[in-house]
Amino acid sequence: MQKDLFDRFLTRIFGEKSPESKKNPSHPFGKTRDGQNNGDLAKTISLNGRTIAYTLRRSSRRSIGFLVNETGLRVTAPKRSSLYSIENAIMDKQKWILSKLDFYHFNHSSETVPIEWTNGALLPFLGDKLSLQIINGTTGKTFFNIENGKLLIYHPDSGKPFDSPLKNWLVQQAGAILAKRLELQAERMNIPFGAFSLSNARTRWGSCTARRHIRLNWRLVHCDISLIDYVAIHELAHCLEMNHSQRFWNIVATYYPDYKHARKQLHLQSPTLFSLFDKRENQAD
Ligand SMILES: [Zn+2]
Repeated sequence: MQKDLFDRFLTRIFGEKSPESKKNPSHPFGKTRDGQNNGDLAKTISLNGRTIAYTLRRSSRRSIGFLVNETGLRVTAPKRSSLYSIENAIMDKQKWILSKLDFYHFNHSSETVPIEWTNGALLPFLGDKLSLQIINGTTGKTFFNIENGKLLIYHPDSGKPFDSPLKNWLVQQAGAILAKRLELQAERMNIPFGAFSLSNARTRWGSCTARRHIRLNWRLVHCDISLIDYVAIHELAHCLEMNHSQRFWNIVATYYPDYKHARKQLHLQSPTLFSLFDKRENQAD
């Protein structure tokens, strides 16, 4: 019998220290407050009745350039162009921009079809996928066990939905795992934090207050440990720099050299991960 996956998870959670370094292109994070980087400005413009968010970057180039990728629209403009001329250039290019944005949005939305939590459904957990196996329990209580890549769910009544026990179980795992990763990173960075709690924010992975109260989104439990570490390091760095200045990113890069890659990964996974338990919550409300 293969070594229990859970042991492997535990080794990764409690054993793994620092993320590896890889070279990757820069990608702004997008809609959240983490969208600003290196003096980029977050802007919006109305195109064809739609409000389009974009990043404005100033450069020494002589003309206005456009880039659309999975993180959205970026406009690069000469340092002295007025906002008026930039907006005009965007409008001239709007057909191309909207079709490109639709292309990427299409790719995202195809992933956000809500998952039915039934036998065989795949639950993202620490960057792996656990296949759900529901077993008619006899104890009258729902409980969970990870075994060989499966999440065994002993459930008293197979007819009853178990979405909320499943979510509660995930939140419980998140509480232990995220606290441990935050502690490890705080130790590495030698930055004490005031308090830790889980958040259930809709669009943000983490936050840090002036009193060093760090909140990490429980949904990070779906992500690879390296991404959990990135968010922990990001928020710990905010204990020293409450902004996204170059000084802030330098601190992040010291402890997480490949942070641009992590930001991109989180951005790509956000639409899917934030929608996993959403529909059911709304129905329950
Ligand atoms: Zn931040």
